[in-house]
Amino acid sequence: MNKEDFPLLHEHPNLVYLDNSATTQKPLSVINALVDFYKNTNSNVHRGIHFLSQKATMEYQKAHEAVADFIGAEAEEIVFTSGTTQSLNLIARMLGRKLREDDEIVLTEMEHHSNIIPWQQIAKEKKCGLKYIPLTSGYTLDMKEARQMINSKTRIVAVTHVSNVLGTINPVRELASLAHDVGALLIVDGAQSAPHLKINVKDLGCDFFAFSGHKMCGPTGIGVLYGKKGLLQNLDPVEFGGGMIKEVTKWHATWADLPAKFEAGTPNIAGAVGLRAAIDYLNNIGMEKIQEQGRELMAYALQKLSLLPKVRIIGPVIANERIPVFSFTVDKMHPHDVGDFLDKHNIAVRAGHHCAMPLMKTLGINGTVRASFYFYNTLEDVDKLISALHNLLNSKMENVSLRNVDKNQIVFGELTEKQEIYKENVLDHYKEPRNKGILKEYTHSCREVNPVCGDVVTLYLNVENEKIQNVSFMGNGCVISQASLSLLTEEMKGKPVQMVQNFTLNKIFSLLGIPISHTRYTCAFLSLKAVHGALKNGLRN
Ligand code: PMP
Repeated sequence: MNKEDFPLLHEHPNLVYLDNSATTQKPLSVINALVDFYKNTNSNVHRGIHFLSQKATMEYQKAHEAVADFIGAEAEEIVFTSGTTQSLNLIARMLGRKLREDDEIVLTEMEHHSNIIPWQQIAKEKKCGLKYIPLTSGYTLDMKEARQMINSKTRIVAVTHVSNVLGTINPVRELASLAHDVGALLIVDGAQSAPHLKINVKDLGCDFFAFSGHKMCGPTGIGVLYGKKGLLQNLDPVEFGGGMIKEVTKWHATWADLPAKFEAGTPNIAGAVGLRAAIDYLNNIGMEKIQEQGRELMAYALQKLSLLPKVRIIGPVIANERIPVFSFTVDKMHPHDVGDFLDKHNIAVRAGHHCAMPLMKTLGINGTVRASFYFYNTLEDVDKLISALHNLLNSKMENVSLRNVDKNQIVFGELTEKQEIYKENVLDHYKEPRNKGILKEYTHSCREVNPVCGDVVTLYLNVENEKIQNVSFMGNGCVISQASLSLLTEEMKGKPVQMVQNFTLNKIFSLLGIPISHTRYTCAFLSLKAVHGALKNGLRN
């Protein structure tokens, strides 16, 4: 449904786009609103007395109003930011100023890095406690623990409304009353809920609510921080400059009214206009309908996915506790390899830790494959995903990950004869990696992490007489990372240190001999980073 409204989906009818939690596609009405703004209204806001500036200011104000209506707030309570990440950073810095030593901040184990790191920084700065509400075995929040954890020391409870990994919908109302009962504030990361659920911040009872335009059909670079008016009025800004002041002297400044006080500098006016168009688009369909459609897709996908052998769904299996975002793992296969295989079948998913490394650690995995649906996805899209996964399960690793891609066309070509030979070699090194293990004696070592998927590798070197006498590595990973490590360690044995230090990524590419997609560069690079790191650091770990 609605696919025809989305030019990219229309242009690529064979593409099954299931990476909506990362960002959604944009309908023509949003694209047109951006073009129209730049063609007919472009001007700065607030500052000009001329006609165009007044028109732009009006459009910008209308965007605040549209967002306010969309989440049941008032226009003054809507601060435009660049996205959820900036919203959460802002609120953490503003509230952080008020915290004292031994105050406590409570998060959950399913937070996105955007709702962890800003609080971690504050906790370190102010010497505050940082606690995490754990998960139940059903991938929901352990509310029994939450009731214990939120106590008289708690000043801030910051939770995601919906997990971007598990799809779990958290009981925000209950968390709000737990927080308020002890005089704490509730901050909600709504990045994944605003696109899927009808939001009313007053009903939710939260004090602050953050979300991004680009995950709900709007443009990138525009997001929202909602705050209760009374609270926003009592907070001081942390970003300063034009547009946010009432009066400035050489030694002092006073702040503009809400929400301008928190919007320093020229804002993303076009983004705000685009976000308003996205909200109009969503409202035309109706958020209730979007939610209902999501439930239908979810029930269907859950049933189909749960029937697949070797596929483990990481998230609740009860449809009304979640949104249609499915993380899963495939037995004995790295998420990157699964993601690449699906890509070959024109199915766009995400693979890795999804910016939730602490959650991955809790779950005891490095990453998952994530198929995230939106209202324009169909039951047929689910069928295509399931059928591709069937193919994957029936295939040997031969089909995984290695193929020629013309990125401009989004088509996949065959490998050349020579590349086929290299492919066999790569698979051989993946299945039976050389030099795996820990050297009994080593002079250098280095631990490296692939920031994309969280894979960890440790490299051991024995260097004598300026030569690499021996080398080994530990750690698991995808086809590309394991084969690169195996090939590179073979290549460097017996070579002078100086020569190895001069190896570049091209060395890995030539050892692999097959084309790899851009996202896999980090997998290939991991081996080289570990080698360079070990030679630079000397004996470590
Ligand atoms: N929180 C959650 C739950 C998310 O899913 C995301 C995006 N993946 C973010 C925060 C960050 O959003 P943005 O990158 O738009 O700032």
